[in-house]
Amino acid sequence: MKVAIIGAGLGGLAVAIRLAKQGHSVEIFEANNYVGGKATVHNIDGFRFDAGPSLFTMPQYIEELFAVAGEDIKQHFPYTRLEHICNYYFEDGTEIIADANPEKFAQEIADKTTDSSESVTQFLNKSAKIYEVTKGLFLEKSLHKLATYFSKDAFKGYANLHKIDTMTNMGKVIDKQFKDSRTRRLFKRYATYNGSNPYQAPGTLNIIPHLEYGMGAYFPNNGIHGITQALLYLCERLGVKIHLNTRITKIEHSKGKIEAISYQSSVIREQKTENSKLKTDIIVSNSDVYFTYKHLLPDVEFPTKVLNQPRSSSALIFYWGIKKQFPKLDLHNILFSEDYKTEFDYLFNKKSLYSDPTVYINITAKYKANDAPEGCENWFVMINAPHIDGQNWDELITQARQNIITKINRVLNTDIVPFIVTEKTLDPRGIESVTQSYLGSLYGTSSNNRMAAFYRHPNFSKQIKGLYFVGGSVHPGGGIPLVLSSAKIVAEMVG
Ligand code: FAD
Repeated sequence: MKVAIIGAGLGGLAVAIRLAKQGHSVEIFEANNYVGGKATVHNIDGFRFDAGPSLFTMPQYIEELFAVAGEDIKQHFPYTRLEHICNYYFEDGTEIIADANPEKFAQEIADKTTDSSESVTQFLNKSAKIYEVTKGLFLEKSLHKLATYFSKDAFKGYANLHKIDTMTNMGKVIDKQFKDSRTRRLFKRYATYNGSNPYQAPGTLNIIPHLEYGMGAYFPNNGIHGITQALLYLCERLGVKIHLNTRITKIEHSKGKIEAISYQSSVIREQKTENSKLKTDIIVSNSDVYFTYKHLLPDVEFPTKVLNQPRSSSALIFYWGIKKQFPKLDLHNILFSEDYKTEFDYLFNKKSLYSDPTVYINITAKYKANDAPEGCENWFVMINAPHIDGQNWDELITQARQNIITKINRVLNTDIVPFIVTEKTLDPRGIESVTQSYLGSLYGTSSNNRMAAFYRHPNFSKQIKGLYFVGGSVHPGGGIPLVLSSAKIVAEMVG
């Protein structure tokens, strides 16, 4: 069949690989002049920055794509398991170096906080249990097909539902398990991995630490952008045709069936646009599902209940070229807010930025020396931000920049300002306009309520035969592994 894919984010590229291998004729239409969507790259003044995602877990989904395509992953996508997951810094001078070995990590918590190593081990075991119970039901199957609920995995899940904390929230489970505020913050932070609030998200999300401590955190040797490059390579090998600078303007359908796709391509040299239409059997939208309905399906009923779910958080990022090296920092570093609850209140209720933010610093030059000139480091400095909701972003960003610098200077006992030689900023407005993410949210809808997984939009249209959805705004959710999983689900449905 002829397949047209709207968008070359990781979800679009991954589904293209699978469908091409299944024998379909696949074309991708991408509005930007590059592929990868959020997983793109910035090269500025000799510094290389991964633009969006920085943490890589569950490499098996990339392994699978190489296996499906019959290509050698070692040659085209080398990656390394991290020995240290993250360095955590607190205002009282505590530094927790999270070793990837769960026993060493538990011991570090026992050495640096008032919590015991046993409490950490018990919590990580529980996290592993949640993964085991939910993976077959939530992560790799459509929640909108009856067969999912009658599978062996599903029955195993039902029998264990009481063990996975669906009826309480993450924060409550963590507060019960740990007494030290530093340990509590460390584990609550995992809610932000899918843009949620630990004080609202179901306890089931305590699954996330298992992904790091049980299954491993990794670094793609060519940076996160190496994932984009690897998937592009596989697409090219399989003959997928990619149209850049080409924006889909309408999904054409008739009698409940896909007919064609309308698009506008920019002819850059001649500074003009051309409108065209292509007949197709299948369309897979990798565009945010909200915008897919709003802009591309004006004649289809908007599934309000599904699409009006609360959005995930967004981010404010400073890409700083730093003309100094900081040996105590690692690849992933977190400088914690002193009042985590208030910070989340600002993000999800006040829809603003707190004056004492939790600051994340990612430095890929620690693992990939040529990402920065000699003696320098490439700092990706990020704080969580609310999604767009009428804020005065220019004012908020000026204030936040100062608050971030103050925090870094205080916690790392330095003055960072004289070392910043390059700067670029990305805020929720940019995230929305560059990747077409509704309200600039990073992960589609949030997981702030128990039913979130069921209200996320399905991977197929119930109204139009031949229309499918892939990527972070649909089931099973945002983040690289889940996006790649959505591609697998769609490819299986198309067949
Ligand atoms: P997207 O990357 O959203 O791309 C969609 C593509 O579709 C875009 O290229 C867009 O231009 C194109 N498009 C949209 N509409 C049209 C149209 N009408 N016509 C043509 N093209 C169109 N995940 C992790 O796993 N780990 C992390 O550490 C992490 N950190 C993150 C930090 C930031 C700052 C951001 C922004 C995201 C982060 N994520 C992280 C999330 C992860 O990046 C996303 O979940 C994932 O990359 C989304 O992939 P996607 O397939 O949904 O497509």
